[in-house]
Amino acid sequence: MTEFLSTEFKEFQHKLQFFLNENINLSSEEMRSKSLDKGFYSISHQSFIHDGPATPLEMVIARESVASLGILDHSNIIGPDPGALINCSEEIKSTYLDPMLKGEKKASFAFTENDFQNPTTGELNDSSVIINGNKSYVSRAIESDFMLVVLNFKPENSRFVAIVDSNSEGISFKKTFESLDGSNHSEVTFENVKIPEMFLLKNVQAATQNILQERLEMSAISVGLAIFTVNELSRKLLEIHRSGGSLSDREGIRLKYSDLRINTYAARAMLYRTVALLEKSENAINEVSATKVFCTETAFNVVDSAIQLTGGQSLIIGNNLEAIFRKTRSMKLAGGSNEILRLNISKGVFEFDSGIL
Ligand SMILES: Cc1cc2nc3c(=O)[nH]c(=O)nc-3n(C[C@H](O)[C@H](O)[C@H](O)COP(=O)(O)OP(=O)(O)OC[C@H]3O[C@@H](n4cnc5c(N)ncnc54)[C@H](O)[C@@H]3O)c2cc1C
Repeated sequence: MTEFLSTEFKEFQHKLQFFLNENINLSSEEMRSKSLDKGFYSISHQSFIHDGPATPLEMVIARESVASLGILDHSNIIGPDPGALINCSEEIKSTYLDPMLKGEKKASFAFTENDFQNPTTGELNDSSVIINGNKSYVSRAIESDFMLVVLNFKPENSRFVAIVDSNSEGISFKKTFESLDGSNHSEVTFENVKIPEMFLLKNVQAATQNILQERLEMSAISVGLAIFTVNELSRKLLEIHRSGGSLSDREGIRLKYSDLRINTYAARAMLYRTVALLEKSENAINEVSATKVFCTETAFNVVDSAIQLTGGQSLIIGNNLEAIFRKTRSMKLAGGSNEILRLNISKGVFEFDSGIL
């Protein structure tokens, strides 16, 4: 838990919280430029604590801190994780990774297939890779400079990741739509899209790396949002209610409220235990899945109950809680549906003898 963080991590947490409190009212563009200026945006590239990229713990502290102030869009404050691009070649680093971490290029992640029977494929032709297929739900694809495309590489069908410029010939955005959390996505078609072979990540861990980071990110955001929600609820319940007295005096309300605190406390403890495993470089794929499931569901249940306890005001469009409700709802599907993750956890135990309690 955060009480047991070393001094330098605590100092980083305080610096970031101070920065956020000072600038919370800035527009997203102003916030982005301030965060770049102060070095928070680039921590996944250059840590505040040591040379080189931030560790998973620093990233979790950063994302949880942002969300615990009720900020829903992190992308202007904390830059992206390297994901699949970690440990890449010099060429990829200078063309894609460094510009992405400095906020000069935006990436999207094309993982979900439109038709799982006919997944997106790649094959070698001279020294180029030819990509064909259809991805169904690529977030921020239209504003991205490049995409990380998970493909089945022929002839062995190895699961590799290709780095593809979003304006490459043969790419078309079939359908662009918005989901209830307000984010935009596209169905993307690849028709004989050609990339140089050096931009193919021939590493089966690359896709897993991206997905793991995404799930950890969602867990940290969920915990931060649950903390924000419980704090908002505590404040509201202490106000004088029209029925006389405050709702915080009613036993029925207290019982429900305590459950939200208990579950938020448990989710936060789980998040920090999992990230401690990752700090030790342990294989924690099952634990990250379990954390994503528990934290996203806890945050969703917390905000759902908080809305009920605070009444109809919280459902007015633009209210913090209704926005958090929409965001936490979408995270139960994004990054892999929670049911599929549950199945993966059991598969890890029964078929690969992995996972800890
Ligand atoms: C906000 C948001 C952002 C997203 N961003 C991206 C992105 O950037 N890139 C990307 O590639 N994808 C993205 N996705 C897609 C996301 O990865 C998928 O929605 C998710 O993996 C679930 O797949 P699906 O929607 O096709 O549902 P399906 O796989 O069709 O599942 C439908 C339901 O059936 C259940 N189910 C499926 N199979 C089984 C089974 N074997 N046993 C039991 N239950 C099962 C699921 O749990 C789910 O409840 C995003 C989704 C959302 C909501």
